[in-house]
Amino acid sequence: MSADPATKDLSKTAYDHLWMHFTRMSSYENNPVPTIVSGEGTYIYDSNGRKYLDGLAGLFVVQAGHGRAELAEVARKQAEKLAFFPIWSYAHPAAVELAERLASYAPGDLNKVFFTTGGGEAVETAWKLAKQYFKLTGEHTKYKVISRAVAYHGTPQGALSITGLPALKAPFEPLVPGAHKVVNTNIYRAPIHGDNPEAYGRWCADQIEQEILFEGPETVAAVFLEPVQNAGGCFPPPPGYFQRVREICDQYNVLLVSDETICAFGRLGTMFACDKFDYIPDIITCAKGMTSGYSPIGAAIISDRIAEPFYHGDNTFLHGYTFGGHPVSSAVALANLDIFEREGLNKHVLANEDAFRSTLEKLLDLPIVGDVRGNGFFYGIELVKDKVTKESFNDDECERILYGYVSKALFENGLYCRADDRGDPVIQLSPPLIADQSTFDEIEQILRTVLTEAWARM
Ligand code: PMP
Repeated sequence: MSADPATKDLSKTAYDHLWMHFTRMSSYENNPVPTIVSGEGTYIYDSNGRKYLDGLAGLFVVQAGHGRAELAEVARKQAEKLAFFPIWSYAHPAAVELAERLASYAPGDLNKVFFTTGGGEAVETAWKLAKQYFKLTGEHTKYKVISRAVAYHGTPQGALSITGLPALKAPFEPLVPGAHKVVNTNIYRAPIHGDNPEAYGRWCADQIEQEILFEGPETVAAVFLEPVQNAGGCFPPPPGYFQRVREICDQYNVLLVSDETICAFGRLGTMFACDKFDYIPDIITCAKGMTSGYSPIGAAIISDRIAEPFYHGDNTFLHGYTFGGHPVSSAVALANLDIFEREGLNKHVLANEDAFRSTLEKLLDLPIVGDVRGNGFFYGIELVKDKVTKESFNDDECERILYGYVSKALFENGLYCRADDRGDPVIQLSPPLIADQSTFDEIEQILRTVLTEAWARM
């Protein structure tokens, strides 16, 4: 039974009925669920009328900022004209135009667009496609995938297998077999070559070759990598890393999948992040920023070479989603990409990324801030107990300082972002792409206040 909507307390109803994602529900038994009701530009507002800086663009999503009436209007018009039609053996104009547009932005011969409704489905699609590609080309034993420690690639069981966070997988084991892990590119905690990025990059990439050889190249189908790995706190690739990975993939006939669920659509200042680091994958998976969140959609963008065997005879990719390439989402994505072009959002990120970095780097004077790392408008700040030894928080300190204080205090001080301990305690920042120096300063000031107090509580 639901309460009368006119009188109900939304926060209480949320606890009673809304099963929040990745949420320890008991934490809301006696605390109100923060309820966000509106947004404008880089700000969001809660049900008490309080204003917060959206330091995470929702969830790495709201690139063009909140409150864009133009995108809402495009959604309305599309819903009025054709609200829904599947792309199962049929086409509709918005999906066709969007597929063409994405192909025009994608590098090399990545010209075939398979729509999904989000990032995890795009990753799932890419693995299934890689498996079938090798079956169609006669290499029946190639099915395994390699990805990196601590990386997050989504929640469907295949994508979760690819995910490198054991704690997220444990409740659901056994998962899909054949998903192997190698080191990520966390140079802050490099076991070797920590003072030589080129040598470290080479070493990290060579671990992928090692793993391919350990498993047998005839069994490995694909390598899944984010351009900048999110989980663990923004690990950019060391120089030369992706060039060496590309070489290895070519040598052993393994597909390179660039999981750009977060990094595409301007997060790093380019439409696709592989362009920023100058490599051409075989498949790009993407989602979040494509519509700036005004409607959900994702995609796997596939090279002509990999798609080719699927275009013969009765070969069919037996895979799809009812809402993949949804007309409203496709129309909104096109309008969102128009905003990117008209307002030069990518150029804005490239022109301001150094300022974002140097503003955040001011925090390095605090004893609790160990590392500031990232690219574009995508940064992680790693917290430590000891700057010299890089000693991290123990479980109790994570519970007490990170969850018990930092997370809540940031929000109470007007900054919505994430303090996460997938790996080490890190604060993740990814503001809307319209952010400027005043946004950076506001983020820095709130972090300074909260982290100074956190240190005092250690
Ligand atoms: N891959 C990466 C790199 C992601 O960051 C995410 C989501 N944060 C996903 C996949 C899963 O996307 P979704 O939540 O849209 O399924």
